[in-house]
Amino acid sequence: MDFLQPTSWQEALELRAERPDAVPIAGGTDVMVDINFDRSRPGALLDLGRVGELREWSTEGGSGGVGGGSAVRLGAGVPYARIVDDLAGPLPGLAMASRTVGSPQIRIRGTVGGNLGSASPAGDAHPPLLAADAVVEVESAVRGVRRIPVAEFYTGVKRNALAPDELIAAVLIPTAAGPQQFCKIGTRNAMVIAVSAFACALHPDRKAVGTGIGSAAPTPRRATDAETFLAGELDGAGLWDSRGPLPESLARAFGEHVAAAASPIDDVRGSAAYRLHSLTVMARRAVSWAWNDLRKAA
Ligand SMILES: Cc1cc2nc3c(=O)[nH]c(=O)nc-3n(C[C@H](O)[C@H](O)[C@H](O)COP(=O)(O)OP(=O)(O)OC[C@H]3O[C@@H](n4cnc5c(N)ncnc54)[C@H](O)[C@@H]3O)c2cc1C
Repeated sequence: MDFLQPTSWQEALELRAERPDAVPIAGGTDVMVDINFDRSRPGALLDLGRVGELREWSTEGGSGGVGGGSAVRLGAGVPYARIVDDLAGPLPGLAMASRTVGSPQIRIRGTVGGNLGSASPAGDAHPPLLAADAVVEVESAVRGVRRIPVAEFYTGVKRNALAPDELIAAVLIPTAAGPQQFCKIGTRNAMVIAVSAFACALHPDRKAVGTGIGSAAPTPRRATDAETFLAGELDGAGLWDSRGPLPESLARAFGEHVAAAASPIDDVRGSAAYRLHSLTVMARRAVSWAWNDLRKAA
């Protein structure tokens, strides 16, 4: 097996275009598991660990950000541990999800770029990226840069929109304009793949709600009907302006709408019925916590 070690982003892109059989490796916490279990035997590994550009994050302000507001440009190779340490303020949902990934060792190695590369429906970064309307920036030496809304990035079970000559450069994540929450259910409290997961983001600046569902459909997905339903009900009741308490019945109805957006399966980790039930509970709780945070901030 060839081991390719570019030291710059440009070199990495050129090697990617020359060697489409090479598997990119960032933290290796998915790639090495597959190689160890002989599930994959690539002709070459393209090690991204020495590409400094991928390990940086920055803030893009004003119209440079996604949707015109400010955004964090998170290099694909920034590990979860740094997201927890550095970005809990601007990206609270992603930081919460990052805290639940694996163990300290996995959080030091594992990256959001790797989570997107694997595109597992159970990946923990996906729900908060969906709820925040993130955009994935990919690049090819041949065709240049593409920016893909994260909801369009997942194309099937463990499949994504990357072309064979493309690499993920970064994720552009709008800076939180309101509270965000992330909930995950597993068979134990730590070091666990999600049985189901849910993220929500309140966007009071545009009276909107964002959602992301994990482990309960072939791909991570938004619950768009639930988003429209809740934002409309809050608007109709004047709650975006008054910041009055969130009616329990509304939180429950939101939970039902979220579960209706899922299409889970029975597998070794949980039944479809349990996944649907747990989504109603997580969505109700998450939105109630987020709304209470919004009221406190008023
Ligand atoms: C013990 C253990 C516990 C875990 N717990 C969790 C958990 O709780 N939650 C969770 O979500 N995941 C978990 N994982 C899975 C894994 O840690 C995550 O998916 C992680 O985000 C992968 O990141 P990585 O940098 O290690 O990716 P890698 O293994 O290096 O790569 C993963 C995939 O992404 C591709 N890739 C990586 N970077 C790029 C790039 N820049 N451009 C294009 N393709 C790229 C690779 O080719 C590969 O297909 C766990 C894994 C282990 C071994």
